[in-house]
Amino acid sequence: MAQTKILLAESEIPTHWYNVIADMPNPPAPPLGPDGNPVGPEALQAIFPDALIEQEMSGQRWIEIPEPVREAYKLWRPSPMFRAHRLEAALGTPAKIYYKYEGCSAAGSHKPNTAIPQAYYNKMQGIKRITTETGAGQWGSAIAQAGQMFGIEIKVYMVKVSYQQKPYRRSLIQTWGAEVHASPTDQTAAGRAVLAKDPNSPGSLGIAISEAVEEAATRKDTNYALGSVLNHVLLHQTIIGLEAKKQFEMVGDYPDAIYAPCGGGSNFGGVAFPFLPDRLNGKDIKLVAVEPISCPTLTKGSYAYDFGDVAGMTPMMLMYTLGHDFVPPSIHAGGLRYHGDSPLVSQLYHEGLIEARAVPNLGTFEAGVQFARTEGIVPAPESCHAIKACIDDAMECKKTGQKKTLFFNLSGHGHFDMSAYDKYFSGGIEDYAYPEEAIKDSISRLPKVGK
Ligand SMILES: *Cc1c(COP(=O)(O)O)cnc(C)c1O
Repeated sequence: MAQTKILLAESEIPTHWYNVIADMPNPPAPPLGPDGNPVGPEALQAIFPDALIEQEMSGQRWIEIPEPVREAYKLWRPSPMFRAHRLEAALGTPAKIYYKYEGCSAAGSHKPNTAIPQAYYNKMQGIKRITTETGAGQWGSAIAQAGQMFGIEIKVYMVKVSYQQKPYRRSLIQTWGAEVHASPTDQTAAGRAVLAKDPNSPGSLGIAISEAVEEAATRKDTNYALGSVLNHVLLHQTIIGLEAKKQFEMVGDYPDAIYAPCGGGSNFGGVAFPFLPDRLNGKDIKLVAVEPISCPTLTKGSYAYDFGDVAGMTPMMLMYTLGHDFVPPSIHAGGLRYHGDSPLVSQLYHEGLIEARAVPNLGTFEAGVQFARTEGIVPAPESCHAIKACIDDAMECKKTGQKKTLFFNLSGHGHFDMSAYDKYFSGGIEDYAYPEEAIKDSISRLPKVGK
């Protein structure tokens, strides 16, 4: 019988991350400051350690993974790759389906792949504390555990509605020794300004970012950490795709298509970028970023300079964006709600080297439940987007009789998201039409800079 789990030994954990910038046909566009000029490394030094700033701007193809980071990775890496025999049989497809499972980390997603090196480099720089924001809590919990590993104090500004509605990720953050506050707080000027206008503000990712950045920028012993979007985050995540390449070699196979859910782009870049050189060398491989129809950044957004946050405090980045003040329909419970996308993913999409697909909300949960009922693992709602796209293509293979090899990244498990599944089972998940008017409106407020 064909293999189900494709496992690498600990000694095969990659020694280097892969920097896609080295192989991109065109250099990335620089982030711009408020004056419209490129932001230099100095501007970032108030909140990031030098090693991460260097990685953010590096054009070097291979960047060594420090030994203490590889040691920490050993707690769950190399992550397993699975052949989805049971799902294939249920679908009756001639396609072969593989998935890489990133839910084996303690925090249950791919986010520790970058949380750990970020904590490590801050420690090396003598930083004592890291502030960050978290929405649903995946990133907050990953950085909390990483801080605990390297002796760094972590303070998480958690969007107030999530803080109230997702108590278990909050508990997880506390279990790993981090402080977690419902944002907006009265501890920062940004938070106080919001509370003065609306004492009952439910908070937002944009407000929480402003609070975390303000505290990091005003304290010498404190830095800030971001869990997606930035080049160095995608760099760290390439460990996923690098391991996957070795795992495909082990079974003598190679993917025709790779799917990953795409919010800020980190797990997509992580799994897909290591395969890009093959594509550039003529290999016929599709790299598909999958997003919700309700927040269709790549498929319906503008390619323009925009802010990373709602308040417009971050540098402007050239990316696909729905406008920095775009708010996706709130009942959508599947995550992936960020208005922008990684500049690297955006540029590769703009240049036609990767693809993007938007999938409907209900369909993602149907796909996730079908996956759970065949393969067992309950996927994170975000991951269900990739499963949906992969299943759609597997069904297409059934029609055409093509025996393609399809591969998706199962970015995390859904054990802390069962309330979203509850909602699905009780009929509370709806399909949202593409919010065309709202997007037109927020696009009209893009900053007037750059091209
Ligand atoms: C955060 C998260 C995502 C989306 O973030 P990306 O940066 O686009 O990868 C997807 N899946 C899971 C499980 C997550 O926690």
